[in-house]
Amino acid sequence: IYGPQRINSRGVNLNINAQLEPLLEQINNFDTTQWQGAPMLAEGIQAAAGATQPVLSPFDHKQQVGSIQWTSAEQVKAALDAAEQAFPRWNSVPVQQRAACLHKAADLLEANMPELMALCAREAGKQLADGVAEIREAVDFCRYYALQAEKLFGETTLLPGPTGESNELYMTGRGIFVAISPWNFPVAIFLGQVLAAAVSGNTVLAKPAEQTSLVACRCMELIHQAGIPREVIQLLPGIGAEIGPLLTADPRVTGVAFTGSTQTAQGINRALAARDNAPLAALVAETGGQNAMIVDSTALPEQVVADIVESSFTSAGQRCSALRVLFLQDEIADRVIEVLTGAMAELQLGDPRDPATDVGPVIDQRAADKLRAHIALYRQQGKILAETQVPAELDQQGYFVAPTAIKIDQLDELKEEQFGPILHILRYKASELDAVIDSINRTGYGLTFGIQSRNEQFAAYIDSKMRVGNVYINRNMIGAVVGVQPFGGMGLSGTGPKAGGPHYLLRFSTERTRTINT
Ligand code: GLU
Repeated sequence: IYGPQRINSRGVNLNINAQLEPLLEQINNFDTTQWQGAPMLAEGIQAAAGATQPVLSPFDHKQQVGSIQWTSAEQVKAALDAAEQAFPRWNSVPVQQRAACLHKAADLLEANMPELMALCAREAGKQLADGVAEIREAVDFCRYYALQAEKLFGETTLLPGPTGESNELYMTGRGIFVAISPWNFPVAIFLGQVLAAAVSGNTVLAKPAEQTSLVACRCMELIHQAGIPREVIQLLPGIGAEIGPLLTADPRVTGVAFTGSTQTAQGINRALAARDNAPLAALVAETGGQNAMIVDSTALPEQVVADIVESSFTSAGQRCSALRVLFLQDEIADRVIEVLTGAMAELQLGDPRDPATDVGPVIDQRAADKLRAHIALYRQQGKILAETQVPAELDQQGYFVAPTAIKIDQLDELKEEQFGPILHILRYKASELDAVIDSINRTGYGLTFGIQSRNEQFAAYIDSKMRVGNVYINRNMIGAVVGVQPFGGMGLSGTGPKAGGPHYLLRFSTERTRTINT
Protein backbone atom coordinates (compact mmCIF):
# COMPACT_ATOMS: atom_id res chain seq x y z
CA ILE A 1 0.00 0.00 0.00
CA TYR A 2 2.81 2.40 0.77
CA GLY A 3 5.32 1.11 -1.74
CA PRO A 4 5.72 1.07 -5.49
CA GLN A 5 3.05 -1.61 -5.91
CA ARG A 6 0.38 1.11 -5.51
CA ILE A 7 0.26 3.29 -8.60
CA ASN A 8 -1.38 6.72 -8.86
CA SER A 9 -3.52 7.46 -11.90
CA ARG A 10 -1.48 8.90 -14.78
CA GLY A 11 -4.28 11.10 -16.14
CA VAL A 12 -3.68 12.92 -19.40
CA ASN A 13 -0.77 15.20 -20.27
CA LEU A 14 -2.34 18.31 -21.78
CA ASN A 15 1.04 19.56 -23.01
CA ILE A 16 1.22 16.72 -25.49
CA ASN A 17 -0.96 17.44 -28.51
CA ALA A 18 -1.50 13.78 -29.25
CA GLN A 19 -3.16 13.47 -25.83
CA LEU A 20 -4.86 16.86 -25.71
CA GLU A 21 -6.58 16.83 -29.10
CA PRO A 22 -8.52 13.56 -28.86
CA LEU A 23 -9.57 14.49 -25.34
CA LEU A 24 -10.80 17.92 -26.48
CA GLU A 25 -12.75 16.33 -29.27
CA GLN A 26 -14.49 14.00 -26.85
CA ILE A 27 -15.20 16.82 -24.39
CA ASN A 28 -16.69 18.91 -27.19
CA ASN A 29 -19.21 16.13 -27.84
CA PHE A 30 -20.87 17.24 -24.60
CA ASP A 31 -21.05 20.94 -25.52
CA THR A 32 -24.81 20.98 -25.81
CA THR A 33 -25.74 18.01 -23.60
CA GLN A 34 -28.49 18.75 -21.11
CA TRP A 35 -27.99 16.59 -18.02
CA GLN A 36 -30.99 15.80 -15.84
CA GLY A 37 -30.47 15.09 -12.14
CA ALA A 38 -32.76 13.96 -9.34
CA PRO A 39 -32.55 12.35 -5.92
CA MET A 40 -31.17 8.80 -6.15
CA LEU A 41 -32.76 6.74 -3.43
CA ALA A 42 -33.14 3.11 -2.42
CA GLU A 43 -35.43 0.98 -4.58
CA GLY A 44 -39.12 1.25 -3.81
CA ILE A 45 -39.24 4.70 -2.17
CA GLN A 46 -42.42 6.40 -3.33
CA ALA A 47 -42.17 9.86 -1.68
CA ALA A 48 -42.66 12.82 -4.03
CA ALA A 49 -39.54 14.84 -4.94
CA GLY A 50 -39.08 18.59 -4.51
CA ALA A 51 -39.00 21.35 -7.13
CA THR A 52 -36.94 21.17 -10.31
CA GLN A 53 -34.69 24.02 -11.35
CA PRO A 54 -32.42 24.88 -14.24
CA VAL A 55 -28.64 24.67 -13.85
CA LEU A 56 -26.74 27.51 -15.53
CA SER A 57 -23.06 27.69 -16.27
CA PRO A 58 -20.84 29.98 -14.16
CA PHE A 59 -18.85 31.09 -17.21
CA ASP A 60 -21.93 31.88 -19.29
CA HIS A 61 -25.18 32.69 -17.53
CA LYS A 62 -27.14 32.06 -20.70
CA GLN A 63 -25.87 28.54 -21.08
CA GLN A 64 -28.07 25.91 -19.49
CA VAL A 65 -26.30 22.73 -18.42
CA GLY A 66 -29.42 20.81 -17.50
CA SER A 67 -31.84 20.71 -14.63
CA ILE A 68 -31.91 19.28 -11.16
CA GLN A 69 -34.72 18.10 -8.98
CA TRP A 70 -34.31 18.79 -5.27
CA THR A 71 -34.98 16.22 -2.54
CA SER A 72 -38.16 16.69 -0.48
CA ALA A 73 -38.21 16.40 3.33
CA GLU A 74 -40.33 13.28 2.92
CA GLN A 75 -37.65 11.71 0.70
CA VAL A 76 -34.93 12.54 3.23
CA LYS A 77 -36.89 10.67 5.87
CA ALA A 78 -37.46 7.68 3.62
CA ALA A 79 -33.76 7.63 2.69
CA LEU A 80 -32.79 7.56 6.36
CA ASP A 81 -35.13 4.61 6.94
CA ALA A 82 -33.63 2.75 3.99
CA ALA A 83 -30.06 3.50 5.12
CA GLU A 84 -30.83 2.19 8.60
CA GLN A 85 -32.29 -0.99 7.21
CA ALA A 86 -29.44 -1.61 4.78
CA PHE A 87 -26.57 -1.07 7.22
CA PRO A 88 -26.28 -4.52 8.88
CA ARG A 89 -26.31 -6.32 5.55
CA TRP A 90 -23.76 -4.04 3.86
CA ASN A 91 -21.51 -4.05 6.92
CA SER A 92 -21.33 -7.83 6.77
CA VAL A 93 -20.47 -7.98 3.05
CA PRO A 94 -16.82 -9.18 2.90
CA VAL A 95 -14.51 -6.20 2.58
CA GLN A 96 -12.89 -7.64 -0.56
CA GLN A 97 -16.26 -7.38 -2.25
CA ARG A 98 -16.81 -3.79 -1.10
CA ALA A 99 -13.29 -2.87 -2.18
CA ALA A 100 -13.81 -4.50 -5.59
CA CYS A 101 -16.63 -1.99 -6.22
CA LEU A 102 -14.16 0.88 -5.66
CA HIS A 103 -11.65 -0.64 -8.07
CA LYS A 104 -14.43 -0.95 -10.62
CA ALA A 105 -15.53 2.64 -9.94
CA ALA A 106 -11.96 3.84 -10.61
CA ASP A 107 -11.97 2.12 -14.02
CA LEU A 108 -15.38 3.60 -14.85
CA LEU A 109 -14.23 7.09 -13.88
CA GLU A 110 -11.24 6.79 -16.20
CA ALA A 111 -13.45 5.50 -19.00
CA ASN A 112 -15.89 8.41 -18.55
CA MET A 113 -13.28 11.12 -18.09
CA PRO A 114 -14.34 13.30 -21.09
CA GLU A 115 -17.96 13.52 -19.97
CA LEU A 116 -17.00 14.20 -16.35
CA MET A 117 -14.54 16.89 -17.48
CA ALA A 118 -17.23 18.45 -19.67
CA LEU A 119 -19.58 18.51 -16.69
CA CYS A 120 -16.89 19.92 -14.42
CA ALA A 121 -16.25 22.69 -16.96
CA ARG A 122 -19.85 23.54 -17.74
CA GLU A 123 -21.37 23.12 -14.27
CA ALA A 124 -18.45 24.11 -12.02
CA GLY A 125 -16.38 26.32 -14.35
CA LYS A 126 -13.39 23.98 -14.02
CA GLN A 127 -10.62 24.59 -16.47
CA LEU A 128 -9.14 21.61 -18.37
CA ALA A 129 -6.05 20.97 -16.25
CA ASP A 130 -8.22 21.12 -13.13
CA GLY A 131 -10.64 18.69 -14.73
CA VAL A 132 -7.86 16.19 -15.38
CA ALA A 133 -6.55 16.60 -11.82
CA GLU A 134 -10.06 16.18 -10.46
CA ILE A 135 -10.68 12.84 -12.16
CA ARG A 136 -7.18 11.58 -11.36
CA GLU A 137 -7.67 12.36 -7.70
CA ALA A 138 -11.05 10.63 -7.65
CA VAL A 139 -9.52 7.54 -9.27
CA ASP A 140 -6.69 7.59 -6.75
CA PHE A 141 -9.11 7.88 -3.82
CA CYS A 142 -11.02 4.83 -5.08
CA ARG A 143 -7.96 2.66 -5.45
CA TYR A 144 -6.25 3.90 -2.30
CA TYR A 145 -9.26 3.49 -0.01
CA ALA A 146 -9.99 0.07 -1.51
CA LEU A 147 -6.51 -1.12 -0.52
CA GLN A 148 -6.66 0.57 2.87
CA ALA A 149 -10.03 -1.02 3.59
CA GLU A 150 -8.85 -4.49 2.69
CA LYS A 151 -6.01 -4.07 5.13
CA LEU A 152 -8.02 -2.43 7.93
CA PHE A 153 -11.17 -4.54 7.79
CA GLY A 154 -9.65 -7.72 6.42
CA GLU A 155 -7.50 -8.47 9.43
CA THR A 156 -8.51 -9.58 12.88
CA THR A 157 -5.78 -8.99 15.42
CA LEU A 158 -5.34 -11.82 17.87
CA LEU A 159 -4.30 -10.63 21.31
CA PRO A 160 -2.88 -13.50 23.31
CA GLY A 161 -2.34 -12.69 26.96
CA PRO A 162 -2.52 -13.80 30.54
CA THR A 163 -6.32 -14.24 30.66
CA GLY A 164 -6.21 -17.67 29.07
CA GLU A 165 -9.08 -16.68 26.78
CA SER A 166 -9.24 -16.05 23.06
CA ASN A 167 -9.12 -12.27 22.49
CA GLU A 168 -9.44 -10.61 19.15
CA LEU A 169 -9.76 -7.06 17.89
CA TYR A 170 -11.30 -6.01 14.60
CA MET A 171 -12.73 -2.96 12.85
CA THR A 172 -16.29 -2.54 11.66
CA GLY A 173 -18.55 0.16 10.17
CA ARG A 174 -20.24 2.70 12.43
CA GLY A 175 -23.73 2.90 10.89
CA ILE A 176 -25.18 5.73 8.83
CA PHE A 177 -22.76 8.35 7.52
CA VAL A 178 -23.84 11.68 6.07
CA ALA A 179 -21.42 13.10 3.49
CA ILE A 180 -21.72 16.79 2.70
CA SER A 181 -19.40 17.75 -0.11
CA PRO A 182 -18.14 20.97 -1.70
CA TRP A 183 -18.50 22.37 -5.21
CA ASN A 184 -14.77 23.03 -5.66
CA PHE A 185 -13.91 19.31 -5.98
CA PRO A 186 -17.29 18.02 -7.12
CA VAL A 187 -15.95 14.64 -8.23
CA ALA A 188 -12.82 13.97 -6.16
CA ILE A 189 -13.92 15.13 -2.71
CA PHE A 190 -17.50 14.01 -3.29
CA LEU A 191 -16.38 10.48 -4.14
CA GLY A 192 -13.54 10.47 -1.61
CA GLN A 193 -15.93 11.10 1.27
CA VAL A 194 -18.76 8.90 0.06
CA LEU A 195 -16.63 5.91 -0.90
CA ALA A 196 -14.46 6.06 2.23
CA ALA A 197 -17.64 5.81 4.28
CA ALA A 198 -19.15 3.02 2.15
CA VAL A 199 -16.05 0.85 1.86
CA SER A 200 -15.81 0.96 5.66
CA GLY A 201 -19.21 -0.75 5.90
CA ASN A 202 -21.42 2.28 6.49
CA THR A 203 -24.50 3.22 4.55
CA VAL A 204 -24.27 6.74 3.19
CA LEU A 205 -26.53 9.71 2.61
CA ALA A 206 -24.71 12.04 0.23
CA LYS A 207 -25.62 15.73 0.04
CA PRO A 208 -23.63 17.27 -2.82
CA ALA A 209 -23.07 21.02 -3.02
CA GLU A 210 -26.13 22.57 -4.67
CA GLN A 211 -23.95 24.20 -7.36
CA THR A 212 -22.59 20.84 -8.57
CA SER A 213 -25.43 18.38 -8.16
CA LEU A 214 -25.47 17.22 -11.78
CA VAL A 215 -21.90 15.94 -11.78
CA ALA A 216 -22.66 14.22 -8.45
CA CYS A 217 -25.63 12.47 -10.10
CA ARG A 218 -23.42 11.28 -12.94
CA CYS A 219 -20.83 9.97 -10.44
CA MET A 220 -23.60 8.13 -8.59
CA GLU A 221 -24.63 6.36 -11.77
CA LEU A 222 -21.06 5.14 -12.12
CA ILE A 223 -20.98 4.04 -8.46
CA HIS A 224 -24.10 1.96 -8.99
CA GLN A 225 -22.67 0.56 -12.19
CA ALA A 226 -19.60 -0.43 -10.16
CA GLY A 227 -21.80 -2.63 -8.01
CA ILE A 228 -22.61 -0.56 -4.93
CA PRO A 229 -26.32 -1.13 -4.21
CA ARG A 230 -28.71 1.82 -4.41
CA GLU A 231 -29.63 1.64 -0.72
CA VAL A 232 -25.96 1.77 0.35
CA ILE A 233 -25.23 5.23 -1.07
CA GLN A 234 -28.22 7.50 -1.65
CA LEU A 235 -27.93 10.96 -3.18
CA LEU A 236 -29.96 13.84 -1.76
CA PRO A 237 -29.44 16.95 -3.89
CA GLY A 238 -30.83 20.08 -2.29
CA ILE A 239 -30.16 23.35 -0.51
CA GLY A 240 -27.70 22.75 2.33
CA ALA A 241 -29.57 24.91 4.83
CA GLU A 242 -32.73 22.85 4.26
CA ILE A 243 -31.46 19.28 3.87
CA GLY A 244 -28.45 19.49 6.22
CA PRO A 245 -30.42 20.04 9.45
CA LEU A 246 -32.84 17.21 8.61
CA LEU A 247 -29.87 14.87 8.43
CA THR A 248 -27.73 16.08 11.32
CA ALA A 249 -30.73 16.19 13.69
CA ASP A 250 -31.61 12.54 13.09
CA PRO A 251 -30.62 10.30 16.01
CA ARG A 252 -29.73 7.43 13.67
CA VAL A 253 -26.81 9.27 12.06
CA THR A 254 -23.51 7.96 13.45
CA GLY A 255 -21.09 10.15 11.54
CA VAL A 256 -20.70 13.11 9.21
CA ALA A 257 -17.99 13.75 6.63
CA PHE A 258 -17.99 17.40 5.67
CA THR A 259 -15.86 19.64 3.48
CA GLY A 260 -16.71 23.34 3.40
CA SER A 261 -16.62 26.38 5.64
CA THR A 262 -15.45 26.35 9.25
CA GLN A 263 -18.72 27.99 10.28
CA THR A 264 -20.84 25.23 8.77
CA ALA A 265 -18.62 22.57 10.37
CA GLN A 266 -19.15 24.21 13.75
CA GLY A 267 -22.92 24.22 13.13
CA ILE A 268 -22.86 20.51 12.25
CA ASN A 269 -20.87 19.76 15.38
CA ARG A 270 -23.43 21.58 17.52
CA ALA A 271 -26.38 19.87 15.80
CA LEU A 272 -24.87 16.40 16.34
CA ALA A 273 -24.14 17.16 19.98
CA ALA A 274 -27.65 18.52 20.63
CA ARG A 275 -29.42 15.26 19.79
CA ASP A 276 -30.94 13.34 22.68
CA ASN A 277 -30.37 9.61 22.95
CA ALA A 278 -28.27 9.67 19.80
CA PRO A 279 -24.84 8.14 19.21
CA LEU A 280 -21.79 10.29 19.91
CA ALA A 281 -21.17 10.85 16.24
CA ALA A 282 -17.85 11.01 14.40
CA LEU A 283 -17.20 14.25 12.54
CA VAL A 284 -14.61 14.35 9.78
CA ALA A 285 -14.41 18.01 8.76
CA GLU A 286 -12.10 19.61 6.24
CA THR A 287 -12.60 23.37 6.31
CA GLY A 288 -10.96 26.65 5.36
CA GLY A 289 -7.64 28.31 5.90
CA GLN A 290 -5.76 31.59 5.88
CA ASN A 291 -2.81 29.91 4.17
CA ALA A 292 0.47 31.76 4.22
CA MET A 293 3.85 31.54 2.53
CA ILE A 294 7.07 33.03 3.90
CA VAL A 295 9.73 34.00 1.36
CA ASP A 296 13.15 34.92 2.69
CA SER A 297 15.84 36.93 0.94
CA THR A 298 17.73 33.85 -0.32
CA ALA A 299 14.82 32.62 -2.46
CA LEU A 300 14.89 32.80 -6.26
CA PRO A 301 12.26 35.34 -7.38
CA GLU A 302 11.49 33.58 -10.70
CA GLN A 303 10.79 30.25 -9.01
CA VAL A 304 8.91 31.92 -6.18
CA VAL A 305 6.63 33.79 -8.58
CA ALA A 306 5.77 30.66 -10.57
CA ASP A 307 4.84 28.93 -7.31
CA ILE A 308 2.86 31.93 -6.05
CA VAL A 309 0.83 32.23 -9.24
CA GLU A 310 0.06 28.52 -9.19
CA SER A 311 -0.81 28.51 -5.49
CA SER A 312 -3.03 31.59 -5.57
CA PHE A 313 -4.74 31.55 -8.94
CA THR A 314 -5.09 27.91 -10.04
CA SER A 315 -8.80 26.98 -9.94
CA ALA A 316 -9.43 30.75 -9.64
CA GLY A 317 -8.13 30.45 -6.08
CA GLN A 318 -11.05 28.24 -5.13
CA ARG A 319 -9.10 25.62 -3.22
CA CYS A 320 -8.87 25.37 0.55
CA SER A 321 -5.17 24.85 0.05
CA ALA A 322 -4.68 28.07 -1.96
CA LEU A 323 -2.16 30.71 -0.90
CA ARG A 324 -3.91 33.73 0.63
CA VAL A 325 -1.17 35.68 2.43
CA LEU A 326 2.36 36.13 1.17
CA PHE A 327 5.11 37.35 3.51
CA LEU A 328 8.07 38.78 1.61
CA GLN A 329 11.34 39.66 3.30
CA ASP A 330 12.03 43.34 2.63
CA GLU A 331 15.23 42.77 0.65
CA ILE A 332 13.49 40.65 -1.97
CA ALA A 333 9.98 42.15 -1.91
CA ASP A 334 10.30 44.73 -4.72
CA ARG A 335 11.79 42.22 -7.13
CA VAL A 336 9.18 39.52 -6.38
CA ILE A 337 6.33 42.01 -6.80
CA GLU A 338 7.81 43.24 -10.08
CA VAL A 339 8.07 39.70 -11.53
CA LEU A 340 4.66 38.82 -10.11
CA THR A 341 3.05 41.86 -11.75
CA GLY A 342 4.39 40.73 -15.11
CA ALA A 343 3.25 37.15 -14.59
CA MET A 344 -0.26 38.23 -13.54
CA ALA A 345 -0.63 40.42 -16.61
CA GLU A 346 -0.07 37.29 -18.73
CA LEU A 347 -2.86 35.22 -17.17
CA GLN A 348 -5.75 34.50 -19.53
CA LEU A 349 -9.27 34.37 -18.27
CA GLY A 350 -11.86 32.59 -20.35
CA ASP A 351 -13.96 29.59 -21.24
CA PRO A 352 -12.70 26.74 -19.06
CA ARG A 353 -12.78 24.34 -22.04
CA ASP A 354 -10.29 26.44 -23.99
CA PRO A 355 -6.73 25.09 -23.48
CA ALA A 356 -5.43 28.69 -23.52
CA THR A 357 -7.45 29.58 -20.42
CA ASP A 358 -5.45 29.88 -17.20
CA VAL A 359 -8.21 31.09 -14.92
CA GLY A 360 -11.89 30.24 -15.18
CA PRO A 361 -14.87 31.84 -13.45
CA VAL A 362 -15.73 31.71 -9.76
CA ILE A 363 -18.65 29.54 -8.81
CA ASP A 364 -21.61 31.91 -8.51
CA GLN A 365 -22.92 35.44 -8.15
CA ARG A 366 -22.59 35.42 -4.37
CA ALA A 367 -18.93 34.43 -4.54
CA ALA A 368 -18.21 37.01 -7.25
CA ASP A 369 -19.96 39.82 -5.31
CA LYS A 370 -18.07 39.05 -2.12
CA LEU A 371 -14.66 38.90 -3.82
CA ARG A 372 -15.29 42.05 -5.86
CA ALA A 373 -16.39 43.95 -2.72
CA HIS A 374 -13.15 42.93 -0.98
CA ILE A 375 -11.07 44.11 -3.94
CA ALA A 376 -13.06 47.39 -4.14
CA LEU A 377 -12.42 48.10 -0.48
CA TYR A 378 -8.66 47.89 -0.96
CA ARG A 379 -8.80 49.75 -4.26
CA GLN A 380 -10.31 52.72 -2.43
CA GLN A 381 -7.28 52.70 -0.15
CA GLY A 382 -4.88 52.54 -3.11
CA LYS A 383 -3.56 49.11 -2.09
CA ILE A 384 -3.83 47.12 -5.30
CA LEU A 385 -0.32 45.93 -6.17
CA ALA A 386 -1.07 43.96 -9.32
CA GLU A 387 -4.05 42.62 -11.22
CA THR A 388 -5.09 40.74 -14.31
CA GLN A 389 -7.52 42.38 -16.74
CA VAL A 390 -10.88 40.74 -17.26
CA PRO A 391 -11.92 41.20 -20.91
CA ALA A 392 -15.13 43.28 -20.99
CA GLU A 393 -17.17 40.63 -22.83
CA LEU A 394 -16.39 38.05 -20.13
CA ASP A 395 -17.48 40.42 -17.43
CA GLN A 396 -20.97 40.44 -18.91
CA GLN A 397 -20.98 36.76 -19.68
CA GLY A 398 -20.06 35.04 -16.43
CA TYR A 399 -18.70 35.28 -12.89
CA PHE A 400 -15.16 36.28 -13.72
CA VAL A 401 -13.08 37.89 -10.96
CA ALA A 402 -9.69 39.35 -11.81
CA PRO A 403 -6.70 37.74 -10.10
CA THR A 404 -5.58 40.53 -7.77
CA ALA A 405 -2.65 41.13 -5.43
CA ILE A 406 -3.38 43.42 -2.49
CA LYS A 407 -1.03 45.09 -0.03
CA ILE A 408 -1.99 44.65 3.61
CA ASP A 409 -0.32 45.93 6.78
CA GLN A 410 -1.31 43.26 9.30
CA LEU A 411 -2.50 39.69 8.96
CA ASP A 412 -5.28 40.27 11.48
CA GLU A 413 -6.95 42.89 9.32
CA LEU A 414 -8.24 39.91 7.30
CA LYS A 415 -11.34 38.83 9.15
CA GLU A 416 -12.23 35.90 6.93
CA GLU A 417 -10.99 33.70 4.14
CA GLN A 418 -11.47 35.15 0.64
CA PHE A 419 -12.21 32.03 -1.40
CA GLY A 420 -11.06 33.22 -4.82
CA PRO A 421 -8.17 34.65 -6.85
CA ILE A 422 -7.02 37.24 -4.31
CA LEU A 423 -3.52 37.29 -2.86
CA HIS A 424 -2.59 39.49 0.11
CA ILE A 425 1.02 40.62 0.45
CA LEU A 426 2.92 41.75 3.53
CA ARG A 427 6.55 42.73 3.92
CA TYR A 428 8.62 41.75 6.93
CA LYS A 429 12.08 42.48 8.25
CA ALA A 430 14.39 39.62 9.28
CA SER A 431 14.08 40.72 12.92
CA GLU A 432 10.30 40.29 12.74
CA LEU A 433 10.29 36.62 11.73
CA ASP A 434 9.08 35.23 15.06
CA ALA A 435 6.26 37.79 15.16
CA VAL A 436 5.26 36.75 11.63
CA ILE A 437 5.18 33.07 12.62
CA ASP A 438 3.18 33.91 15.70
CA SER A 439 0.66 35.97 13.73
CA ILE A 440 0.06 33.08 11.32
CA ASN A 441 -0.46 30.60 14.15
CA ARG A 442 -2.76 33.05 15.92
CA THR A 443 -5.29 33.01 13.07
CA GLY A 444 -6.32 29.63 14.51
CA TYR A 445 -6.36 28.07 11.04
CA GLY A 446 -3.81 25.45 10.14
CA LEU A 447 -4.19 24.02 6.66
CA THR A 448 -1.35 24.64 4.20
CA PHE A 449 1.82 26.68 4.55
CA GLY A 450 4.70 27.47 2.22
CA ILE A 451 8.36 28.29 2.80
CA GLN A 452 10.66 29.56 0.08
CA SER A 453 14.31 29.72 1.08
CA ARG A 454 17.65 28.34 0.01
CA ASN A 455 18.72 28.25 3.62
CA GLU A 456 17.80 24.79 4.89
CA GLN A 457 18.18 25.69 8.56
CA PHE A 458 15.90 28.68 8.15
CA ALA A 459 13.26 26.53 6.45
CA ALA A 460 13.56 23.86 9.13
CA TYR A 461 13.19 26.47 11.88
CA ILE A 462 9.97 27.88 10.44
CA ASP A 463 8.62 24.41 9.72
CA SER A 464 9.14 23.41 13.34
CA LYS A 465 7.13 26.41 14.61
CA MET A 466 4.14 26.29 12.29
CA ARG A 467 0.89 24.66 13.43
CA VAL A 468 -0.48 23.49 10.08
CA GLY A 469 -1.44 20.25 8.38
CA ASN A 470 0.55 20.47 5.12
CA VAL A 471 3.87 22.26 4.72
CA TYR A 472 5.37 22.84 1.27
CA ILE A 473 9.01 23.89 0.98
CA ASN A 474 10.32 25.49 -2.22
CA ARG A 475 7.28 24.57 -4.34
CA ASN A 476 3.65 25.50 -4.77
CA MET A 477 1.11 24.76 -2.05
CA ILE A 478 -1.70 22.98 -3.88
CA GLY A 479 -2.53 19.66 -5.46
CA ALA A 480 -1.78 17.20 -2.66
CA VAL A 481 -1.38 13.72 -4.16
CA VAL A 482 -3.44 10.84 -2.73
CA GLY A 483 -1.40 8.35 -0.74
CA VAL A 484 1.75 10.46 -1.02
CA GLN A 485 0.76 13.82 0.44
CA PRO A 486 -2.18 13.10 2.77
CA PHE A 487 -4.22 16.29 3.00
CA GLY A 488 -5.99 18.09 5.84
CA GLY A 489 -5.57 20.71 8.51
CA MET A 490 -5.79 21.34 12.21
CA GLY A 491 -7.45 23.90 14.46
CA LEU A 492 -10.13 25.88 12.60
CA SER A 493 -9.09 24.10 9.39
CA GLY A 494 -10.40 20.67 10.27
CA THR A 495 -10.58 17.62 12.45
CA GLY A 496 -8.38 15.23 10.49
CA PRO A 497 -7.69 12.43 9.77
CA LYS A 498 -6.17 13.35 6.47
CA ALA A 499 -7.88 12.57 3.17
CA GLY A 500 -5.77 10.25 1.05
CA GLY A 501 -3.79 9.16 4.10
CA PRO A 502 -3.38 5.85 5.90
CA HIS A 503 -5.53 6.84 8.89
CA TYR A 504 -8.57 8.28 7.09
CA LEU A 505 -10.75 5.17 7.26
CA LEU A 506 -10.22 4.83 11.01
CA ARG A 507 -12.69 7.66 11.67
CA PHE A 508 -15.32 5.98 9.51
CA SER A 509 -15.12 2.80 11.54
CA THR A 510 -15.21 1.59 15.09
CA GLU A 511 -13.33 -1.10 17.02
CA ARG A 512 -14.68 -4.29 18.50
CA THR A 513 -13.01 -6.69 20.89
CA ARG A 514 -14.30 -10.25 21.12
CA THR A 515 -13.30 -12.39 24.09
CA ILE A 516 -14.15 -16.08 24.17
CA ASN A 517 -13.67 -18.19 27.25
CA THR A 518 -12.11 -21.28 25.72
N1 GLU B 1 -6.57 18.74 -1.78
C1 GLU B 1 -6.65 19.97 -2.51
C2 GLU B 1 -5.28 20.51 -2.80
O1 GLU B 1 -4.31 20.01 -2.27
C3 GLU B 1 -7.48 21.01 -1.82
C4 GLU B 1 -8.77 20.50 -1.29
C5 GLU B 1 -9.83 21.57 -1.11
O2 GLU B 1 -9.77 22.65 -1.67
O3 GLU B 1 -10.78 21.23 -0.36
O4 GLU B 1 -5.16 21.45 -3.54
